[in-house]
Amino acid sequence: MITSYHRPTKAVIDTAAITTNVASAVKKLTGTSELFAVVKADGYGHGAHAVAHAAIAGGATGFCVATIDEGIDLRQAGFTQPILILGVTDARYTKIILEYDLSITIATLADLAKFERELATIVTSGKLKIHLKIDTGMGRIGFLNTADLQMAVEKISTRVNMEWEGIFTHFAKADTEDDTYWLEQRDIFNAFLASLAELPRYIHINNSATTLWHPNQIGNLVRYGVAMYGLNPSGGELALEEKLQPAFELVSELVQVKRVPAGTHISYGATYTSQQAEWIGTVPIGYADGWLRKMQGFALLVEGSYCEIVGRICMDQLMIRLPQEFSVGTKVTLIGKNGGETITMQEVADYLGTIHYEVACTISDRVPREYRK
Ligand SMILES: *Cc1c(COP(=O)(O)O)cnc(C)c1O
Repeated sequence: MITSYHRPTKAVIDTAAITTNVASAVKKLTGTSELFAVVKADGYGHGAHAVAHAAIAGGATGFCVATIDEGIDLRQAGFTQPILILGVTDARYTKIILEYDLSITIATLADLAKFERELATIVTSGKLKIHLKIDTGMGRIGFLNTADLQMAVEKISTRVNMEWEGIFTHFAKADTEDDTYWLEQRDIFNAFLASLAELPRYIHINNSATTLWHPNQIGNLVRYGVAMYGLNPSGGELALEEKLQPAFELVSELVQVKRVPAGTHISYGATYTSQQAEWIGTVPIGYADGWLRKMQGFALLVEGSYCEIVGRICMDQLMIRLPQEFSVGTKVTLIGKNGGETITMQEVADYLGTIHYEVACTISDRVPREYRK
């Protein structure tokens, strides 16, 4: 997608909000604990570089990403902090992982063996940094029993070009009122730890929800994602002790405003018909921007008034019904504050029947990200 700067549609990212959110989490860390900012998926759609800078300013000391390429991108942008790839990586990329000094996640003995074989063919003075992932109940990736884990630790310790840097797990239900399953997973992880004679530098179980609602239980590293962006990980289920500051605004402008008589059809399929004479405004954002067709019927803000999206949302444009005439160029807010009212990303997610994480990632890179300091 070509990022389209010469159009009024843009996401405005409040980097100071991100710094504040990180700083407030860092302040609550105990002992030698650190916070790595999770900037996968281009910083949850906020822009990975700007988010990474803002997180460092707030006290983050490293990053988590999902893929090798996301890690390389941060290195090429000049970041020298530790970068952990949370997903499974293929051993055929060993050389490039070493070249960019990325830490990898190993989840099975079979994968470890592939990296051992690959390393045997490479001349390097570098060490492959490894975090071992334990599946304590997420059912996604990770070692499933202590025997395999112990074997992995032993193998790494005998390889001069491997370094056991971390051990971690991920919770499936850290963001719900009922913490039974969280406690089960925690106990399983503790049993895994107890089965080992030694432990690595980083032990980590905390995503945002665990950090907010089960703080400082195990380990010395927090993987801080969605909360850094000012979003409540639980949606609305659990209250926040301290308010988070949302960092994402989505805005555009009216590009045409017209008075239509009763009986006028709007957009593809002519599914909307004006009941009376109405003011209709056209906004240059559509489903190719990640403003999905299902958003039809949702209301956007113009000068503090909620204006319903009428007719089908097109690839690049949509129409709203205005309470009065507004001039072309008037600001339209899709997410954020406008005239004393606010549309939250949570409201968009609720309307779509999804979670705010998905909304943030779905706004496409055709929409430029502008950074407010
Ligand atoms: C994405 C991810 C996180 C961050 O989760 P948030 O809920 O956004 O804080 C942490 N750990 C792992 C393994 C992840 O995949």
